[in-house]
Amino acid sequence: MIKNVSVLEERRKSILDKGGACSGCGGGSGITSNIACDTTSVSGAVSQRACVYSGARVVLNPVTDAYHLIHGPIGCASYTWDIRGSLTSGPEIFRTSFSTDLRETDVIFGGEKKLSSAIDQLAEKASAKLIFVYGTCIAGVIGDDIDAVCARAEKKHGIRVIPVKASGFSGTKSQGYKLACDAIMQVILPYKDVPKADGVNILGDYNLAGEMWIIKNYLKEIGINVISTATGDASFESLKKMPSARLNVVQCAGSSTYLARRMAEEFGIPYINVSFFGISDTADSLRRIARALGDSAAVKRAEVFIAAQTKAAEAFIEPYRPGFKGKKAAIFVGGGFKAISLIKQFNELGIETVVVGTQTGKEEDYEVISSLVGGDTVILDDANPSELEEFMLLKGADILVGGVKERPLAYKLGIAFCDHNHERRHALAGFEGVRNFTREVNLSMNSPVWAYCRRECG
Ligand code: SF4
Repeated sequence: MIKNVSVLEERRKSILDKGGACSGCGGGSGITSNIACDTTSVSGAVSQRACVYSGARVVLNPVTDAYHLIHGPIGCASYTWDIRGSLTSGPEIFRTSFSTDLRETDVIFGGEKKLSSAIDQLAEKASAKLIFVYGTCIAGVIGDDIDAVCARAEKKHGIRVIPVKASGFSGTKSQGYKLACDAIMQVILPYKDVPKADGVNILGDYNLAGEMWIIKNYLKEIGINVISTATGDASFESLKKMPSARLNVVQCAGSSTYLARRMAEEFGIPYINVSFFGISDTADSLRRIARALGDSAAVKRAEVFIAAQTKAAEAFIEPYRPGFKGKKAAIFVGGGFKAISLIKQFNELGIETVVVGTQTGKEEDYEVISSLVGGDTVILDDANPSELEEFMLLKGADILVGGVKERPLAYKLGIAFCDHNHERRHALAGFEGVRNFTREVNLSMNSPVWAYCRRECG
């Protein structure tokens, strides 16, 4: 049956059928070292991936008191807080998008004057301390010197004005992550010599639905101080404290491992990768943070906390198990770390993952993914809608976990959907997240509406 899947010739190397029965993709024994990933998208394949600018904006946008100025046509600026969902405990400046709104005449005569004037307008606001200036495709094509404009503005206004030259065509979404990490380094490098303090930074968590606060509470419970966060609920003042931490804890490896590496080089701060999705990963992450700090009292408190929370979470899941029996899941998310955690989380619920893919996974991520899934699973890098639809149908997925671009693919096929991306309003991290995820998967997957949809759609 799977032999009938139509796949673009150039895409075959980015799809692995672990069962080896697919003539349209690479079959094999489960070793994924030869899956093509971390490359530019195939032209004409209509990738689900976001652009370089979007990758940069994802990482920087949650800085709550920063002005985010998009130098480009108004369309690029449509990526705002309202499709992001990061929460703040203070300023709300980040909820507004600013744009130079480049038009045809700017393309002909250049947009630097317009950019200078836009920065002046923002810098005159009393609250302005930090402005990120994103260069998008058009700014890259017309060759505006964004670096020079930002440098002049810094001198003129005495505030930080950081250029993020993120033309959408200049690479993949991962390149945008890297640019954002470099921008954060520009902000914090002048504070390299702040005195060391006892505590950790959390990198790669964006406080979606308050998840950063959940994790901070766990760490507080076991006696670990959080110095700063990047970038969920961060501010200019909190970012400046980052060089003082003893350890960097990296939640989203894809977006923030590069920042952790740069901080290790510049400030000598070691880092560990963690994940707070699912019972086993949450427990393991808390344990490893306490151990990495060499804090034996925290290790003991962590074990007590984990034992109590795990017992309660497992008791919560138990009544849902009969409804999950025999069900199959498809996963398509941004990075490898989340896909790995989701496979484990579905395993904890007794649900088999039959399709799994990411926008920006690395070879090492796909090796872990391959080791976690069964022999009849299809693994895809940088998938397109057609591939996702075909493989979900062929593998009989009952639910798709993804983001805003994947939701309609599932719904039109009569397949349940769980939003695990930036738009959601409920926490999916930590033990609270286990409860929310279990409840949502059950409500969506076992809704009678799908049987009705499939019958109606034939
Ligand atoms: S691809 Fe270019 S034009 Fe489109 S959103 Fe990204 S930066 Fe803007």
